[in-house]
Amino acid sequence: MSRRNEQQGFATRSIHFGYDPLDYHGALNPPVFLTSTYAFDKTESGSARFAGEAQGYIYGRVGNPTANVLETRLAALEEGEAGLATSSGMGALTAVIWTLARTGDEIIADKTLYGCTFALLHHQLGRFGITTRFVDMTDASNVAAAIGPKTRLVITETPSNPNMRVVDIAAISEITAGHGALFVVDNTYCTPYLQRPLTLGADIVVHSATKYLGGHGDLLAGVVVSRKELVDQFRFIGIKEMNGACISALDAFLVLRGLKTLSLRMDRHCATAERLAHDLESHPAVARVFFPGLSSHPQHALATRQMKAYGGMIAMELKGGLAAGKAFMDATALVTRAVSLGDAETLVQHPASMTHATYAPEERARHGFTDGLIRLSVGLEDYEDLRSDIFGALSRIEQ
Ligand SMILES: *Cc1c(COP(=O)(O)O)cnc(C)c1O
Repeated sequence: MSRRNEQQGFATRSIHFGYDPLDYHGALNPPVFLTSTYAFDKTESGSARFAGEAQGYIYGRVGNPTANVLETRLAALEEGEAGLATSSGMGALTAVIWTLARTGDEIIADKTLYGCTFALLHHQLGRFGITTRFVDMTDASNVAAAIGPKTRLVITETPSNPNMRVVDIAAISEITAGHGALFVVDNTYCTPYLQRPLTLGADIVVHSATKYLGGHGDLLAGVVVSRKELVDQFRFIGIKEMNGACISALDAFLVLRGLKTLSLRMDRHCATAERLAHDLESHPAVARVFFPGLSSHPQHALATRQMKAYGGMIAMELKGGLAAGKAFMDATALVTRAVSLGDAETLVQHPASMTHATYAPEERARHGFTDGLIRLSVGLEDYEDLRSDIFGALSRIEQ
C-alpha cells in the first residue's frame, strides 16, 4: 500500500507521498533501480505491455520505479493528475513542444524567459515552421490581442527570468482556454511550495528540477505535470520517440531527497532574500532592485495574491551600470560567481553575458532588461555573513 493521502500538508506529502517502505523490505528511502530493461514473465505479457493492454515497465526510456515515485510525488505537490520526470528542464520543455506543436502552429511566449527557452523558441523552432510571438504578459490583454486560431501553446515563467516580472496566471488561463490553446507555466522560480499554476487554470507545469526541487547543485533534472492524458503523450511521444530525455534513476533519487527539505529551504531562501532586497534597495550604490516583495515592484500586489512568499531570486542594477556590476561580482568572496539557481550557496551571475547571451543586444533592450543587470540566487547561509560579503563588495567598488 502506497501512501497517497492528498489531505496531508505540503511538507508531509513532500516526504511521504507515493512511497511506502513496507513495499520494499522496509527501506526508508526508495531503492535506486539501476536497470535499463525489464523482464517479461511470458512473451504474451511483453506484447500486452507494448500494446498498452497491461500495466508494467518495458524499457528505461519509458519508465523506472524510482522515477515513478518522483513523478507521483511531484504531481501531488503541484495538484495535477500525473507527472513525468526528465533529464533536464530543457528536456521537459521540449517533450511538451515536440509532442504538441506542428508546422504552421504559433506559440505565444512572454518577452523575458530563461535564455535557452528563448533560444529554442526564437532561434530554433522556426526551422520547423513553428513561429513564436513574444508579448509582454504582465498585461494579459497583450495575450488576448495576439492569440488566434493558429495558437497552440502559450508559454510563460513567473516570476520571469532574469528580471522578476510577475504574470497573472489566472487571467491568462482564462484567455487561453477560450481559444483552445494550452497554457504552459515554467514554475522553476517558485516551486509548488510557493505557487501552483494548475490550481489557477494553467494546463501544463514544467520545471527545471536542477534548481530548487533538487536544491543542492548536484544534478540535472526536469519535470512536467498535467492531465494524465497529456502526460502519457509527453512520455510516449515526446520522450520515447522524440527527445529521449528520460531521467536517470540516481538523479530521480536525488531529487526525491531534495524534496524532503523543500519547504524548509524555501522558507529560508524567501526570508533571507526579502531582507536582502530591502537592505539593497536603500544602498547608495544600487540604482534599482527587482524583487516582487518590494512595494516598488510593479506587480507587488499580484505577487502577494499569487505567491505564498516572494521567492529567493533578486535582480539589481548598480548606479555604475555594467562596469560596476562586473566589479561587484569580482569583489565578492562568499557569494559565488556561477549560473544556475536554487542551491544552498548564494550565486551571482550577469545575465547579458551569461544566461541571457542568447538575446542579441537590441533584443535585450526590446525585451526589457539592461546589460547592467546582476542576478542573485540567495542561498541558505547566515544572513549576517551574506550581508557583510555583499555590502563589503559594494563599498569596495564605490571607491
Ligand atoms: C534552468 C532553467 C531552465 C532549464 O533547465 P535545465 O535543467 O538547465 O535544462 C528552464 N527554465 C528556467 C526558469 C530555468 O531557470
